[in-house]
Amino acid sequence: MRPIYLDYAATTPVEPEVAEVMAECLTMDGVFANPASRSHVYGWRAEELVEAARAQVAEMVKLDSRAVVWTSGATEANNLALKGVFERRNFQGQFICGQVEHKAVLDVAQWLANKGVQVRYLPVDQGGRYQLDLLAEWLKEPTALVSLMWINNETGVVQDIERALTLCHHQAVPLHVDAAQAVGKLDIDLAHLPIDLVSLSAHKFYGPKGVGCLLVHPKALVQPLAQLHGGGHERGMRSGTLPTHQLVGMGLAAALVDPVYEAEHLAAMRDQLWQGLQQLPVQINGDLQYLAPSHLNLAFAGLDGETLLLALNQIAVSTGSACNSLSLKPSYVLKAMGLSDALAQSSLRLSVGRYTQASDIKKAIFHIQQVVTGLLQQNPTGVMR
Ligand SMILES: *Cc1c(COP(=O)(O)O)cnc(C)c1O
Repeated sequence: MRPIYLDYAATTPVEPEVAEVMAECLTMDGVFANPASRSHVYGWRAEELVEAARAQVAEMVKLDSRAVVWTSGATEANNLALKGVFERRNFQGQFICGQVEHKAVLDVAQWLANKGVQVRYLPVDQGGRYQLDLLAEWLKEPTALVSLMWINNETGVVQDIERALTLCHHQAVPLHVDAAQAVGKLDIDLAHLPIDLVSLSAHKFYGPKGVGCLLVHPKALVQPLAQLHGGGHERGMRSGTLPTHQLVGMGLAAALVDPVYEAEHLAAMRDQLWQGLQQLPVQINGDLQYLAPSHLNLAFAGLDGETLLLALNQIAVSTGSACNSLSLKPSYVLKAMGLSDALAQSSLRLSVGRYTQASDIKKAIFHIQQVVTGLLQQNPTGVMR
């Protein structure tokens, strides 16, 4: 029997309907052509499908199709946004970046710092929320760009992006938001919330890996300069032959997202899980009132996360994020929230998804209770808070 999958924050399986339409864009009898081929019907048909997919993604966030710049995922979208804006601005002005951003933002911030850009890292409070009063202070100095994530991938904490946007635009500073974790959990309406630049990734919402986009709002205060040159695709912002099957997959995955229904299901599963685990000596990392419905990041005081992970062989979960799960260092996200090394090391991320069922949660609770109780008995030195 395979373990119960509770790591939807790392990636989601592809919705079967999505896999089907993707398969129809690969072979000779399918829509295999280069969407940029203007001289024959094969190319026209591929272009039609790509543009239909673009419209589906745009509609999900209530923008016009022209906002969508296809990329290979959120990592590339973040690189395009940050490097592209700083190149456009000749590396002038400071960069304000959240302290608990994904590595795909933090590593670019480090790259910018090496280029001489002044980078300031906006701290979070104990609940994992960005200290926006401090952002308002820092914005008084010349700033080229602010980058904050919508939902943290490790903890699920939802940031107050609406307020962050108001603060940025008050100083005419553009805002980039890494929204890779937000699709399907929040109803994203960029018509009413004109965030300048937004990164998305298809594999976080039941689409394929290796595709995403940067949304450049029609009212964006800045247009990023291309980071991939050659051919001038995507209105010059990102060259490379468009992968029809990937884009069609992302488009249908976007069309299938029903944020209200989905968030309700996730919340029901997550709340059931939390109900069942509360009797254990465990605490939630992140302020529960600001958590996305999908996440539960738990600190099991007195236990080592790696030991726990190995013993929990009937569920598939992770310590921290997938990208850092090979590292033995305590999570920088949890450390930023004030957790001790020990408590950060004893933390696990559980994340539910579209296919999680009440019966899965029931089994997971029983398994976690047994394993945690067993390990705590072996380790009577116990609680180190
Ligand atoms: C998954 C994720 C990414 C990386 O997206 P890819 O499409 O895998 O490159 C970036 N940021 C956040 C918040 C994520 O959750």
